Amino acid sequence: MPDEPDENISGGPGGGGREVAFDLSESETTRAAVVVDRLGDLYWRKAYGGQGGFECLVRTILSQNTSDKASQPAHDELMARFSGGDLAESLAAADREALVDAIRSAGLYNQKSKLIIGVAEEVLADFGSEADFDRYVRKADPAAVRERLLEMNGVGPKTADCVLLFAGGRGGVFPVDTHVHRIARRIGLAPADADHEGVREHLERDVPAEACGFGHTAMIQFGREYCTARKPACLDGPEACPMADVCAQVGVSPETGDVFDPADVRE
Ligand code: SF4
Repeated sequence: MPDEPDENISGGPGGGGREVAFDLSESETTRAAVVVDRLGDLYWRKAYGGQGGFECLVRTILSQNTSDKASQPAHDELMARFSGGDLAESLAAADREALVDAIRSAGLYNQKSKLIIGVAEEVLADFGSEADFDRYVRKADPAAVRERLLEMNGVGPKTADCVLLFAGGRGGVFPVDTHVHRIARRIGLAPADADHEGVREHLERDVPAEACGFGHTAMIQFGREYCTARKPACLDGPEACPMADVCAQVGVSPETGDVFDPADVRE
């Protein structure tokens, strides 16, 4: 993974969202619910929503294939130079070089600047303004919003789900990034060979709706601190990981020190 900050951008006291109470009821004792409840004990229990849909879309495009540490300054610089009025309007009319210059720290700036101008033009053409698009993200049927977002060039399932979660404030949306994809399959919350969409389907089926948002952000944090790609904590023994008693350790062998992608594990 690229260099990452100590704290997930949406976690902790400064990261936005609001605290929520989440009590694991007896009817919600799927392993996925237990894991997410424990992530809540370890980190935070938050509900999300309230960000502007278009700004969130731009932020998520900037964050593709890079770390929060690199994409946050790019987002801040973009906002400093292009916000003030209707963000979609200013980005649709943006000088490409000026946009590239603003977002350079996020990497892949040529590609990302093209995508951002493209989505800005599309939002203006189809919704009329940033505010109308934001309203659509908040109010329309979530499945329809997801489908519409996925039609945009450069918007994949993770980006669409992040917009639904952080801007739409929709419950039951569990975006799957590389950490979530790895950890859910290692623990055994999804089949070892599930792709990102397969993992999302399992998590959204098994995790209570109000816990999906912080399940996503806290699982990312857990992936940075404990269940890292190359050196999961349990290689040092079960006491090194707070999930050890609920984890199937698919692809992780503390006996030999081997770590495989769960999809490569032979029965
Ligand atoms: S026990 Fe190992 S594989 Fe399972 S969550 Fe912990 S670190 Fe990851």
